[in-house]
Amino acid sequence: MTTHHNWFFRDDADHKAASDSEALGGSGSASGLPVGGSSAGGPLVIFDLDGVISDASRRQHFLSGERKDFRGFFLAAVDDPPLAAGQALAASVSADHTVAILTARPFYVVDNTRNWLAVNDVRHDLLILRPQRGEGVHSASADFKRRELHRMWDAGYEVTVALDDDERIIDMYRSEGVFALYIHSGYYEH
Ligand SMILES: [Mg+2]
Repeated sequence: MTTHHNWFFRDDADHKAASDSEALGGSGSASGLPVGGSSAGGPLVIFDLDGVISDASRRQHFLSGERKDFRGFFLAAVDDPPLAAGQALAASVSADHTVAILTARPFYVVDNTRNWLAVNDVRHDLLILRPQRGEGVHSASADFKRRELHRMWDAGYEVTVALDDDERIIDMYRSEGVFALYIHSGYYEH
């Protein structure tokens, strides 16, 4: 069992009940979505969150001014609508694969983010955000995600495919030999 403090498995704590019923009932979760994955390694798919599963278009204005309001930007994520295509892609991943959501959101929105994923029935087994302290809090997103990718490998996961809407992240995955799919959100055009 991996114990990184910025890794949250869906069947931890408040999701335990759904996991128990799944063990009894077989292939489905309480929401009817397939739930697979494992905290012990195996095949894994990485999804980015903002611009891939969560529609962050209505809060881009927090980042457009002279002084970027990152806190306002991240706190407003609770009101994002889900992106139907990303939701469907996550739901389509076969049950023997772990669905990991790897986001560069800061640690202070972890509860908001877990609630949002639950309310919107997003298929996922593992959520990874930036850590609360230490390396990764302020590093470039690509450096943060590269480090977490290596931690996944160290934990015994085989990363089958990774999806992101930031070309710098796509470049990082490809430089690490990971098959990566670019999703166009338009958030990174200047
Ligand atoms: Mg994104």
